[in-house]
Amino acid sequence: MRSAFLLLALLTGAQTFHILEKPNSKNHQDITAFAILRATVKVCEKVEGFTKPEPLNTQTLAKACKKDAFKSNFEAGIEMITHYNTQTDVTDIASAKHHFNSEKFLDGKALIIKGIEDIAADVKKEDFENARKTLGSILHTLQDFYSHSNWIELGNTEPCTALINLEESIPNPADENTETCESDLPNTNTGAKFKNNILENKILTSGYYGTSKKKGKCSHGGTLDFTTGFGRGWDGINKDAIDSSHGLDHHKAADVAIAASVQLLEKIWNNDDPSFFRLIGLHKDKPKGTWKTFFSFSSSKSRVSDANGKR
Ligand SMILES: [Zn+2]
Repeated sequence: MRSAFLLLALLTGAQTFHILEKPNSKNHQDITAFAILRATVKVCEKVEGFTKPEPLNTQTLAKACKKDAFKSNFEAGIEMITHYNTQTDVTDIASAKHHFNSEKFLDGKALIIKGIEDIAADVKKEDFENARKTLGSILHTLQDFYSHSNWIELGNTEPCTALINLEESIPNPADENTETCESDLPNTNTGAKFKNNILENKILTSGYYGTSKKKGKCSHGGTLDFTTGFGRGWDGINKDAIDSSHGLDHHKAADVAIAASVQLLEKIWNNDDPSFFRLIGLHKDKPKGTWKTFFSFSSSKSRVSDANGKR
């Protein structure tokens, strides 16, 4: 039962920015690869004579950064990081905090902050394989925030920097008793509707996912989310793809998720260029380890032919 559920969830992408390809939508692999390429541009800017390539992809960037010889290692690095990103939907599918579901804002943030610390420790002892695993995992959680919360619907066009900075507080999260979504509305093809005061007072919430929720809370939505009630899979707020409950905001959410991922990568970079290059594989040492490529970057590599674009 559990494995059937997992498989169904994977195939329908019920839980997350999708991990399979979907036309006109960005999945976790696209978002992660775009972000790594864009963050790497910033590090390469210190290389003499560097100009940002057009189009921006692994081949053009490795060349512009004078590291042509490491192109395939770079691709392996991105592939490994994106693989461990998508694994979060396999190993932790039922854990709300890993996907910022069910208003688990503090717990989700704690995962990211601990991940940043663990990566720094692994880089220090040159355990880059483990650092890549953790990096993939926390990028997934960070990216899901923009699809699963109402950060975008509140009008934000920039990342929530509090998610990667311990000392910053997450702005205005709803408490457990605050009703956030209208209940029992008919389907208008626009997904769930936030209560007016939530939008007016800029209160942060996220969708509940699984089997139950408190009345008045928002749902994630989708065919495998049973918090919406029977036949009401539309009644959610996720922006995982363009045909999701709040799919009209999918590209806004994906673009802010890319920007947020770049910020996280810059934080991990921490002005240590050699370690950063080695972490992402733009280095003579090929990333080691085994990972299945079915859900990973290789299946969507052709889609990331230019990470400059907005779409
Ligand atoms: Zn997820």
